[in-house]
Amino acid sequence: MTTKKNKKMTCVQCGSTEFAKNLRTVDSNGQHGKGHLTIEAYNDPGALIFKGTKASKLRANVCTECGYVMFTVSKKDARDIGRIMNVKKEKKKTPKFKKDDKKEEKIKKNKIKKSIVKDAKKISDEEDKKN
Ligand SMILES: [Zn+2]
Repeated sequence: MTTKKNKKMTCVQCGSTEFAKNLRTVDSNGQHGKGHLTIEAYNDPGALIFKGTKASKLRANVCTECGYVMFTVSKKDARDIGRIMNVKKEKKKTPKFKKDDKKEEKIKKNKIKKSIVKDAKKISDEEDKKN
């Protein structure tokens, strides 16, 4: 049995499964020396300052057959980014009652009330006869 976890990384270009995985990505032009290449997701991209930024370190996976590079982020970061970017599907809303349905329900309830009152009257009438 194969599970997703055990699924091998496959090169989208040549189909090879031979990868040099999890290599550090380096930005050599940074002002503060070498830094990781990162991607950023914004919760509120229109905001001037507080964009709700989620930054994730990029890891490179190099196909050692053809040289194709695939980037990955950690699974935790991937889930966070998915939440920020609203990737998950919204739950289906339950359809609201139509006006007619509500009316019918009211009528039904009233009928039940009336029948209860009738029964109560019957009982009290019968008790009156006894006395
Ligand atoms: Zn390849």
